Amino acid sequence: MPSPIFGRNFIAGAWLPHAADFASLNPAKLAEAVGHFPATSTDAVGQAVAAARQAFPAWRRLSRIHRAECFHRLGYLIERHTDALATLMARECGKILNECRAEVVEGLHMVQYVFGTGRMPVGDVIPSEIAEKDAFVRRKPRGVVGVITPWNFPFAVPLWMLGPSLLEGNTAVFKPSEETPAIGQRLVELFAEAGFPAGTINLVHGAGTVGEAIVQNPDVNAILFTGSSAVGQRIQQISAGFTDRIVAAEMGGKNAVIVCEDADLRLAIPAAVLSAFKTTGQRCVSASRILVHKAIAAKFIQSFIDTVHRIQFGDPFDPASFAGPLINRKAVEKTLMYNGLAKDEALDMIYESREFAPQPGCFVSPCVYAIHDNPNSRCLKEEVFGPHVAIVPFDDDEHAVDIANSTDYGLSMAVITESYRKMRFFREECDYGLGYANLPCIGAEVHLPFGGVKKSGNGHPSAAGLVETITHKYAWTVNHGTGIVMAQGMSSSVDSN
Ligand code: NAD
Repeated sequence: MPSPIFGRNFIAGAWLPHAADFASLNPAKLAEAVGHFPATSTDAVGQAVAAARQAFPAWRRLSRIHRAECFHRLGYLIERHTDALATLMARECGKILNECRAEVVEGLHMVQYVFGTGRMPVGDVIPSEIAEKDAFVRRKPRGVVGVITPWNFPFAVPLWMLGPSLLEGNTAVFKPSEETPAIGQRLVELFAEAGFPAGTINLVHGAGTVGEAIVQNPDVNAILFTGSSAVGQRIQQISAGFTDRIVAAEMGGKNAVIVCEDADLRLAIPAAVLSAFKTTGQRCVSASRILVHKAIAAKFIQSFIDTVHRIQFGDPFDPASFAGPLINRKAVEKTLMYNGLAKDEALDMIYESREFAPQPGCFVSPCVYAIHDNPNSRCLKEEVFGPHVAIVPFDDDEHAVDIANSTDYGLSMAVITESYRKMRFFREECDYGLGYANLPCIGAEVHLPFGGVKKSGNGHPSAAGLVETITHKYAWTVNHGTGIVMAQGMSSSVDSN
């Protein structure tokens, strides 16, 4: 077993003394501590924000191309350490090794994207309504951003936010999830090694109270949050009290795959299985509802179950594993609670889940049940975040849309059909930020905006969409004439007597 990692905060370019207030545990073997980490005090959070504030003017004034070059070095380091990063991630968050590798590659893609966009500055020079004037439209960074992230994408999600923010000239205070502090710390070590100047990125460890200390700090100009809807809503409520504050919140989901009557089951079955069970159902975009046209429901269920029967949940390092454990005991209890609710409400409990060895670990097998849509059903309306899937029959396309949209969430969806008319109908009628046709409803790409609607997102998408949030646009107008001419026909004569 590798030695536990010494957790340290990183403030103003210095790694602070190690403290061991909480442990990060391997969810596949709870007896194994991946590392021990400090619970940052509110004072120390204040120091991190002050360090970011102090670093801001010099970083903002640096040429954008020079800022981008730091990302070039960071990309090189990530590429060099891909295997070690994936291994650490698999130990700390329990995702299977192949998925962890894919996540490191996603983080690398974000860094490459950021470096590339560094070489493609945007801005406009446009004519003013007065012939002698030119108007410029440019962007400025907002200042200090607080980046608060979840455990399930502990490498790529921080990079979705830190990448564009730092490129545009902001400085950052980053708090990784308390479930995955080791991979968060490793990421910041790579930033430091890549030569990001002291104070441009600061790391503070800890649980929700530490996140809240960042949010409560009036000197933070933007909060970039990814996590549950309850926490996102609280952050937005607190932030409403600050005038110079913008919040981008990417939150939970209750996503659906819609399988139409004409679906090709060779696409529908893998799309449904990947959507429901990849990452053990612990993606914000995981589907916990598969809506199937009633005419093909029996046939679909049979092949779906045959496939679920063949996939293995187990050791993240076993190449035969399709998915690993849940993140912690709390997640096991939550999933089993929803499975219990499903048992009370289902038409047919097709595949009952159970906890399984090795213990103590957080392994739960899939739960699959058939159920009619019901507005009062908690298991159909609330995010479970586990290997839990309802198969819901529908009568026609309108009915499928009604069911798909009948939750408070709107993050991802997929439709499986051979008809371009149906594809368009669902594309237009469903509530979502990430839509797919003849694909699973998981699988983000960094050059696309990532976000949702309703309780899933507040309209400031991450990744490629983030630039709108972490900069503000301004207009700059220059007069090339020898006198002053005002717009809208306003008189510019000044009586100097
Ligand atoms: P979480 O909301 O419990 O925690 C997320 C982060 O917020 C952690 O760093 C946590 O310490 C911090 N936090 C907790 N309370 C806080 C508070 N009061 N103030 C400030 N920060 C606080 O979420 P999680 O369990 O880590 O992740 C799973 C959730 O994240 C799921 O709901 C999932 O759908 C969502 N998620 C969404 C996306 C997306 O892009 N929409 C991506 C990944 C995960």
